[in-house]
Amino acid sequence: MNFLEQKIVEEGCIKQGNILKVDNFLNHQIDIDIMRQIAYEFKRRFRGLPVNKILTIEASGIAIGVLLGHLYDVPVVFAKKGETANCTDDKYISHAYSFTHKCMNDIFVSRPYLNADDKVLIVDDFLADGQAALSLIDIVKQAGASVTGIGIAIEKGQQKGGTLLREAGYRLESIAILDDMDYETQTFKFRSQNR
Ligand code: 5GP
Repeated sequence: MNFLEQKIVEEGCIKQGNILKVDNFLNHQIDIDIMRQIAYEFKRRFRGLPVNKILTIEASGIAIGVLLGHLYDVPVVFAKKGETANCTDDKYISHAYSFTHKCMNDIFVSRPYLNADDKVLIVDDFLADGQAALSLIDIVKQAGASVTGIGIAIEKGQQKGGTLLREAGYRLESIAILDDMDYETQTFKFRSQNR
């Protein structure tokens, strides 16, 4: 098991509805040592590839984004949710269905923060059906920039996001891939990765 799989086994809590709660280190309290290790692991996996901007989505992607941005020494941009109705000219806007909140979110990035020459590494805490990642990709495309890769801390392998992004040709790196989790026994099955 890698460091993140180990942490999930020790501190993760499986909720009904295929939800993994990791508030203890990722979604409420942030464990800086784990965040640092996640950032180093992404840097290692994407080594040699061009990155001049990190893009994530509020809220939980920000911590990962900031530590990774520190390693690359590049700006970190986070897409914001909501508030797009009034003024849309100065923003790239996309839409994502929220797996956890079961509603549609408008997400946006102000135009000055993404440019056509940007080589963007997208990061997020979870990948489930891929809605958040696809909306971030959409925003990168609107800016005329390119996606260098997508780094995910925890991919839920039973949901379609991973397959969708890999089949679309994106370089997707997930540090822990959960192929199964059992609410009754609170046990996890991780996909083996030779990384
Ligand atoms: P997707 O857009 O890929 O369907 O879902 C990814 C987003 O939903 C992530 O940004 C994350 O916030 C949230 N999410 C999806 N599944 C889970 C889960 O099992 N646990 C937690 N904590 N968040 C999740």
